[in-house]
Amino acid sequence: MKTIPQQIVQEKFYRKLPGGKIKCLLCRHYCELKEGKTGVCGVNKNENGRLVNLVYGRVAALHIDPIEKKPLYHFLPGTTALSLGTIGCNMQCSFCQNWQISQEKTIYQKDFVAPEQIVYLALKYKSKTIAYTYNEPTIFYPYARDIALEAKKYGLKNIFVTNGIESVEVVKDMAGIIDAANVDFKAYDEQYYRRELKAPFSVRETLQLMKQAGLWVEVTTLIIPGINDTTEHLEKIAGFIANKLGTETPWHLSAFHPDYKMLDKPVTPVTILEKAYETGQKAGLQFIYIGNVGLRKNITYCPGCHKPLIERMGYQILQNKITDGKCPYCQTKISGIWN
Ligand code: SF4
Repeated sequence: MKTIPQQIVQEKFYRKLPGGKIKCLLCRHYCELKEGKTGVCGVNKNENGRLVNLVYGRVAALHIDPIEKKPLYHFLPGTTALSLGTIGCNMQCSFCQNWQISQEKTIYQKDFVAPEQIVYLALKYKSKTIAYTYNEPTIFYPYARDIALEAKKYGLKNIFVTNGIESVEVVKDMAGIIDAANVDFKAYDEQYYRRELKAPFSVRETLQLMKQAGLWVEVTTLIIPGINDTTEHLEKIAGFIANKLGTETPWHLSAFHPDYKMLDKPVTPVTILEKAYETGQKAGLQFIYIGNVGLRKNITYCPGCHKPLIERMGYQILQNKITDGKCPYCQTKISGIWN
């Protein structure tokens, strides 16, 4: 397979080590790669002492999605995001819902999709945003970054849907390039991250760094019965969001459905999601949403006067009363990016 120039990663995202090795700086694994080797993700490789991103321009999934599907509820509601992913991932979750591409090893070589072509498609289909999603975008950050910079020229915004193990270097680089992120906070348990997901527990620091970098951040927790559904555990996540990110940070509670290798757990009962919702409320979170449970109304209430402001059914907006970023009844500012 011939390396194309675009696949060679900028030197600020890797470091040369003695003996021809390099250290990849794209995610928290910080893989040290010998000549010819790829890292945990399988898509970043040491070729002649340079880091090569093998999936640059190799799109495995491309769709136009409602922004509510990411999910981002406080970011340009009612608009669409041109959404793309490649193959590969830096985690190995047994419950992955996109395992067909995230755990795929063969890189589809036939078509190269240049950043300009992605932006062209976003403009053609009138998407306001480009979403880096489906698999973990950190592992194709060099590609996402080039698309994002091109997209900025046309006033488009860029969003990451991520597992939160970006490197410090990548998150700092996102400032002014990536506008928003939905970050999976899968568990408040270092052992669980290391043992089950084969990944470092760095999501808390990533979230804080993203806020410092100026990104609009929403958090998602997939609640799996018997794994992470105790009140004590959910209190820790909700408390972290409230105390370290701010009570205005939306928290999405997502129902688990058996998939990939985790087929022995049941679908999350709505009662558990509602219990988690109450836990979030007690922690002081202002915006909590239940998702992945079929058609269900999800409402954004004004934290000032408690009137309903945005009503959604599934991914559809039924009504949006937010005006100039404020509640029209009591003028409370509603946190989010509204236009
Ligand atoms: S992106 Fe992460 S997993 Fe992949 S090579 Fe770099 S440090 Fe390793």
